[in-house]
Amino acid sequence: MSELTLFDRVIAGEIPVDKVYEDEHILAFRDINPQAPVHVLVIPKQKVRRFAELSEQDPLMVGRLFQGAAHVAHELGLTESGYRIVVNNGEHGQQTVEYIHLHILGGRQLNWPPG
Ligand code: AMP
Repeated sequence: MSELTLFDRVIAGEIPVDKVYEDEHILAFRDINPQAPVHVLVIPKQKVRRFAELSEQDPLMVGRLFQGAAHVAHELGLTESGYRIVVNNGEHGQQTVEYIHLHILGGRQLNWPPG
């Protein structure tokens, strides 16, 4: 069996998080090390290790994750001002937790390009 990650433990309720939204399919919580005034992570309850694995997933699950993130961003009041969705994938993407997560970043003017 593959190793459990931090976010497996969050889903299992073993690690407390600052939850902002939850439904049957996704969980959204504030990042512990925020990079913007609003920095929320959105994860699917059905585990996927990384973005690259989405090609093997049910499109309905992928849609729920992305639509869920848009819903959460809206609930956070970011729709009008705008925001950024970031998914770090693998080593060069600097993914540190091997459980897919969408970063919602907003509440300030963000720069481009990222580092
Ligand atoms: P990534 O670098 O894309 O894998 O993002 C992992 C994110 O998880 C980082 O932004 C961390 O700050 C965040 N993080 C790590 N531990 C926790 C935690 N216990 N609660 C909330 N966010 C966390």
